[in-house]
Amino acid sequence: MSLLEIKNLKTYFETKDGVVKAVDDVSFTLEEGEAIGLVGESGCGKTTTALSIINLLPQEGRVVGGEINYNGKNLAELDQNKIRRYRWNDISIAFQGAMNALNPVKKIGEQITEVMMYHNGLDYKSARKKAKELLELVEIDSARIDQYPHEFSGGMKQRVMIAMALACDPKVLIGDEPTTALDVMVQAQILELLEKLRKELGMSVILITHDLSVMAETCDKAAVMYAGKIVETGSVENIINNSSHPYTQKLVKAFPDIHGKKEMTESIPGTPPDLITPPSGCYFHPRCEHATEECRVSAPPLRKMAENHYVACHLKGV
Ligand code: SF4
Repeated sequence: MSLLEIKNLKTYFETKDGVVKAVDDVSFTLEEGEAIGLVGESGCGKTTTALSIINLLPQEGRVVGGEINYNGKNLAELDQNKIRRYRWNDISIAFQGAMNALNPVKKIGEQITEVMMYHNGLDYKSARKKAKELLELVEIDSARIDQYPHEFSGGMKQRVMIAMALACDPKVLIGDEPTTALDVMVQAQILELLEKLRKELGMSVILITHDLSVMAETCDKAAVMYAGKIVETGSVENIINNSSHPYTQKLVKAFPDIHGKKEMTESIPGTPPDLITPPSGCYFHPRCEHATEECRVSAPPLRKMAENHYVACHLKGV
């Protein structure tokens, strides 16, 4: 049994213009100590998938189908009260943009201890002691525990966010674009830190990123998402060196190197579709240079290319 099994997950948003199928029949598994990258352009459903797992969707969003099996328990069936027990303690999330996620008028130590006191029932003294240990774990001098967020650089604030996400010893850490907006050097340091923590703590990681080079540095496997669906999934080796879906191939070309410039070297023509009225057939067909008549009328299922490598494209698979 996998630690986490997402099975045919569907998350829809009710808007005044219609229903947005933000996550549409998404499945993947995560084993203990494993890291998976959810990759794709913004708006493809990566963050909504993560927010569905821990039930932190905005008011208009709802899981309308599928299962979220964590240690054999289907979290999709739990109400807010019951799922709160799993948040922080079992599955935790470090949001993108630490500058906005941290409270600017509270010392960082207070913010970390509060999480442990509220979600783990620790008393103040024990929580503060653990907060210091967590700061050291993310390579911040614990003497800085009584400083405010504005006294830290962007990279340090992101480390504080990660320390906070680790406060209740989660089994799964979700990193939502944890390195976006950081410069290349700091980005590499944060990715190294995540890798170190994963090994030391035996945690599993879901890394959400639009940048395939970031995924390649950190993950064992990946699921490439387009317009709410997984279009290709496989090991990092398969996705990077043997990518089969035309969209994945474009993404690989767009972000060639973690150590290079953090900008798209080759843009992907066109824009992602409107998910209220998506295109017929394969959602990628308006942007795909290989599209055929079949692509315009029928949606390709995920087909096996090789062991643990699946792709949803009419021209690929057996
Ligand atoms: Fe392109 Fe057709 Fe494959 Fe879709 S199914 S990615 S349109 S070739």
